[in-house]
Amino acid sequence: MTQLRDGLAARRMSRIPPYLFAEIDKKVAAKRAAGVDVIALDIGDPDTPTPGHIVDAARDALPHVENQRYASYFGMPALRQAVAGWYKGRFDVDVDPDSEILPTLGSKDGISHLPFALVDPGDVVLVPSPGYPVYFTGTVMADGEPHILPLRAENGWLPDLEAVPAAVVERARILWLNYPNNPTAATAPRDFYEKALTFCRRNGIVLCHDFPYSEVTFRGYRAPSVLEIPGAKEVAIEFHSLSKTFNMTGWRIGMAVGNEAVLRLLGQVKTNIDSGIFPVVQRAGIAALEGPDNDALNGIYEARQSRTLEVLRDLGWRDAVAPDATFYLWLPVPDGYTSVSFASHVLDQAGVNVTPGNGFGEYGEGYFRLSLTVPDQRLDEALERLRKLTF
Ligand SMILES: *Cc1c(COP(=O)(O)O)cnc(C)c1O
Repeated sequence: MTQLRDGLAARRMSRIPPYLFAEIDKKVAAKRAAGVDVIALDIGDPDTPTPGHIVDAARDALPHVENQRYASYFGMPALRQAVAGWYKGRFDVDVDPDSEILPTLGSKDGISHLPFALVDPGDVVLVPSPGYPVYFTGTVMADGEPHILPLRAENGWLPDLEAVPAAVVERARILWLNYPNNPTAATAPRDFYEKALTFCRRNGIVLCHDFPYSEVTFRGYRAPSVLEIPGAKEVAIEFHSLSKTFNMTGWRIGMAVGNEAVLRLLGQVKTNIDSGIFPVVQRAGIAALEGPDNDALNGIYEARQSRTLEVLRDLGWRDAVAPDATFYLWLPVPDGYTSVSFASHVLDQAGVNVTPGNGFGEYGEGYFRLSLTVPDQRLDEALERLRKLTF
């Protein structure tokens, strides 16, 4: 009888960082089993429904046989047109729908697969920490070498590209950036993108901007696209997603936009992995991109942000300022705590689950993230409990 070998996992699996929330997840499960009504402020997933006109477009598309068959790998022409129209209207950026847009199954699809197209074993990918974990894991899955770019409060959570050692820069193929940022909620000014583009152009690095929170902005702040900067398409692509903008996280639709050669390679990888976006979802995506924007949604997040900050300021985070974008709050843990010990303390005392900052990389240690994507009543219940927190 044949048996599975010892050491079943491929070596690359051991390079995926350990799951840091196992301890807290266990605790949450135990609390729930004991009847505690744990309020989850840990996951960033919009709680309000996908707008009705988008759902209607999907419902209308569903019965038609042409929407039930394999989709084109590169998206319907009408979807690519809608993306181009949206980029023009929102950023005044011209992109060629045939060659400079690649629809994806959500941006995680594009982000995780890009290294397969661009990275050979031993090549370096510049990965911010704290950051969305897929920049790191996508790199190691492709046998690339992540090089960590520390993001620090005193730099406005922007990486210091000049500090990357020359020997690393020489081997670097991809630079990941993400503003408005998850988890720090930081934004980047236009001149930062200019500097990053100069750095990438000088060193032959592909600038990849992950931009899912471009529309989750407050008090008149408008997030710039890297593609607004003249010549950006020579070295840059931008990953966008309908997930956060239109409450469509479960639908799986996004797009990569920018440098034609990079998108062609990413498309080639994807033709060997997936079979295109469900046409019904593409129709919904077109309705989303061509329909009204989602400003009312930002009003909801903004109100939650101020109610939450009021409580946090009373608790001792006196300098906490409302970020201009994203539905996250990123705060330092009190003295004497680590990220995990504080998250665990909040869970014990208040039955509220927050994300320990080190889950986003080593430079997230000493912080925690709150997500404002729970219904208002749940958030208010969480805030009532947090008011009584002692530490
Ligand atoms: C949510 C998120 C994504 C992925 O979104 P998709 O649902 O895959 O489009 C990518 N990057 C960051 C930083 C995110 O927060």
